[in-house]
Amino acid sequence: MRKINLIVIHCSATRCNQRYSIDSLRDDHNARFHNKGIGYHYYIERDGQLHKPRDESEVGMHALHYNAHSIGICYEGGLDEKGRSCDTRTPAQRATMLALLRSLKSAYPDADIKGHCELEGVHKDCPCFSCQEYRDYFANIKP
Ligand SMILES: [Zn+2]
Repeated sequence: MRKINLIVIHCSATRCNQRYSIDSLRDDHNARFHNKGIGYHYYIERDGQLHKPRDESEVGMHALHYNAHSIGICYEGGLDEKGRSCDTRTPAQRATMLALLRSLKSAYPDADIKGHCELEGVHKDCPCFSCQEYRDYFANIKP
């Protein structure tokens, strides 16, 4: 099993009033990554439904230079109706994301949780919210 020391959170960078299903994501990533499937390990749709398109044992394709030791999570959204960066997580997405992070943190207690934009050399807003809320959360509980 590869060593995991980082959990990277992404948004799909799609508008909150437009659906972006797991099937659309798969089509887009297959086009971009030469049919190697979805680059994230987890995808959370707007209704909170969790998909696991890639096994954790497989290296993902979501964060250049950080893929070997990380797990990638993406939520559907991240842009408002006008296409501006925005925390568009629905209550259902927040609940799913927290449950997923709790489970990952119990499997990989030493893994840091970072937003894509917090990685060195990344100049984008993804995931359009501050992951400090999760770092604070896990700093205050024992897994
Ligand atoms: Zn990203």
